Amino acid sequence: MKVTVLVGGVGGARFLQGVKHALGLPPVGSGGSAHEVTAVVNVGDDIWLHGLRVCPDLDTVMYTLGGGIDVEKGWGRSDERWSVKAELEAYGAEASWFGLGDRDVATHLVRTRMLRAGYPLSQVTEALCHRWQPGVRLLPASDDRVETHVVIDNPDPAAVEETPQVAIHFQEWWIRHRAAPKAYRFASVGADQAAILPDARAAIAGADVVLVAPSNPVVSIGTIVSVPGMAQALAATPAKVVGLSPIVGGAPVRGMADACLTAIGVETSAEGVGRHYGGRGEGGLLDGYLVHTGDAATVPGATVREVPLLMTDHDATADMARAAFELAGVGV
Ligand code: GDP
Ligand code: CA
Repeated sequence: MKVTVLVGGVGGARFLQGVKHALGLPPVGSGGSAHEVTAVVNVGDDIWLHGLRVCPDLDTVMYTLGGGIDVEKGWGRSDERWSVKAELEAYGAEASWFGLGDRDVATHLVRTRMLRAGYPLSQVTEALCHRWQPGVRLLPASDDRVETHVVIDNPDPAAVEETPQVAIHFQEWWIRHRAAPKAYRFASVGADQAAILPDARAAIAGADVVLVAPSNPVVSIGTIVSVPGMAQALAATPAKVVGLSPIVGGAPVRGMADACLTAIGVETSAEGVGRHYGGRGEGGLLDGYLVHTGDAATVPGATVREVPLLMTDHDATADMARAAFELAGVGV
């Protein structure tokens, strides 16, 4: 079976472990099954820091599936050290708010060097995965720059009259400001010039089932779908498209996705997200939609099912993947 999954970072990575487990693949590492999993990963969080290209979601997925993740935090390298960060801070070098660990820096050095030598991000990712063996094909949604910025009130009182609003990088809003400044809208810088990665288009077209992970519906899934060519690829695939709600009991299970939903005028509920994605029968994304037990929802044009959606361990997460396969009418 060929399974293609749209994913962000931490939520996406954990869900992919469950998908692998459901298919008889080891949640960490490669080998062991004839089934094929492809992840189409958000690149909207990618950022240049200190001359290094950092790809938070690709790295979270790669480290999680490759056994290099800090399991407790859910992001970054295990057994990390922070001397580079401390030295940068001693110089007063921005951006001091980003958690750039010493071991992680090596990944960014290798990536940046390859990008500078002219390799596209997809090939760089493949090269990094030679080391990590995630057991899943990791594809950036695009090789082009598609960077999420957030429009907020100008924090500089002296400049606010002339420029009432400014756009800052999503990572600055999310990590430095903990998503506290009111977001008026999200802008995808570069998206108008970008194109879907051809391999991602092929993986969607050739899949037996396409899954939309319980990732941030705005800045992970929304950004992936906004890449030119992506919505068309999803609309055209003969495979069923099944999404899983990242909102349980009216709140994000982890993180601040509610701040993103509020910014785009979508209610923070499983139904709100489902209706935002839309039923495929009505020109939207989803044939099927899984919500957590008790989160009643109707999404016109999609079949909705209630199942437990808490990724407490690999078995529970594998059950979520199985429920998605079942709703799509594909068996394993
Ligand atoms: P990020 O890029 O690291 O923020 O990660 P993602 O975008 O992939 O996932 C973040 C989303 O995962 C958040 O909106 C959470 O609500 C959701 N999430 C995290 N854990 C769970 C879980 O156990 N169940 C469900 N349904 N959603 C979860
Ligand atoms: Ca992310």
